[in-house]
Amino acid sequence: MRPDHGELLYEGKAKRVFASDQPDRVLVEFKNDATAFNAQKRAQLDDKGRLNCQISARLFEALEAAGIPTHYLGLASETWMVVQRVEIIPIEVVLRNIATGSLCRQAPIAEGTTIDPALLDLYYKDDDFGDPLLTEARVRLLGLVDAERLSAIEDLARRVNAVLTPLFASVDLTLVDFKLELGVSTTGQLLLADEISPDTCRLWDRRKSDQSDRILDKDRFRKDLGGVMEAYGEVLKRVQGVCTDPRNCL
Ligand code: 5GP
Repeated sequence: MRPDHGELLYEGKAKRVFASDQPDRVLVEFKNDATAFNAQKRAQLDDKGRLNCQISARLFEALEAAGIPTHYLGLASETWMVVQRVEIIPIEVVLRNIATGSLCRQAPIAEGTTIDPALLDLYYKDDDFGDPLLTEARVRLLGLVDAERLSAIEDLARRVNAVLTPLFASVDLTLVDFKLELGVSTTGQLLLADEISPDTCRLWDRRKSDQSDRILDKDRFRKDLGGVMEAYGEVLKRVQGVCTDPRNCL
């Protein structure tokens, strides 16, 4: 179902954002488009939009119940979410509990090494530059956020990790790493934004020992492992087991 919506405000790789009839709310449509490697690899994956929307809604509600402020307001349909209008901060925050992916390509750390406390990496959200790694000095130089806001961002990201790690563990999933985006609401509040889904998290199935079979996230698409939507469906099934059904909001 396509809810009533206003003009298209923004189209990203995985979502479209539309105006609503209220100035401080927008509607987000989750698309079936899959991209990787800065959109050099593309595909249409049937049902991806619904699965990511449904997983995200439940995780946002779990985070909200734990006192973490998010942009999420409710679902408008199976693939549409109502969220607070925010200005996205152009910093991608990555939390790493286990070393893999770009960290192991860029540093002499063995794949699978546990990182405790989690490593927090900041990247500049800009496709033209390929989302480069940031330093605090570069955040300052580019004037992206001030020191106080950066500290609030890091605190929020670590609190998200502290809620999601045990939530996923309770359904035999290891939260390996994930990417967050944050925004500032029309009233100036820092909110967790974007989505939290197998597109943005690495999740390993503790019920499988094989290193490929255990992957239940976008790495199946990145590495051509097949079974991408089956994996996302399994994540939704497990998350449904421990989260309440998301509220409707129109
Ligand atoms: P890595 O730096 O190893 O490529 O990614 C670390 C984590 O952040 C992974 O869970 C990955 O899915 C997520 N991540 C990093 N950058 C992006 C991005 O631009 N888009 C998406 N969807 N996820 C990202």
